[in-house]
Amino acid sequence: MAWGTVLKEAIKNLIKKPVTINYPIEKVEAPEGYRGVLHFDVNKCLGCGNCARVCPTNTITMVPCEKTKLKRAPRFELSKCVFCGSCIDVCPTKAISFTRNYHTAVIRKEEFVINPNSN
Ligand code: SF4
Ligand code: SF4
Repeated sequence: MAWGTVLKEAIKNLIKKPVTINYPIEKVEAPEGYRGVLHFDVNKCLGCGNCARVCPTNTITMVPCEKTKLKRAPRFELSKCVFCGSCIDVCPTKAISFTRNYHTAVIRKEEFVINPNSN
């Protein structure tokens, strides 16, 4: 196909349907298997600390847990997370999982935390 035709087709498609969306007013669902913001279920946690040991970015620290009978449970500073999935792989009880949430913009990074005491 000649370049002129390709360009004409591209412009035609552009007029028919925009290639971008009006984010964040409009949202698109992330695909199955997307590595989004972590989810942590403190009720499944054993307090073993495996997740904190393997995390390459020190996102996870074990802190005193007031919500369950565990001595310690993980606290996640999500602004440090690189979504590698190592904590998920080593968790024996599947207490950690990825969500499909990609909305990670925050005003203050201190608010982007999973705290086992408020989970
Ligand atoms: S996904 Fe990777 S970087 Fe993020 S908390 Fe888990 S181990 Fe750490
Ligand atoms: S690896 Fe799983 S069970 Fe162990 S402390 Fe982390 S979240 Fe809890």
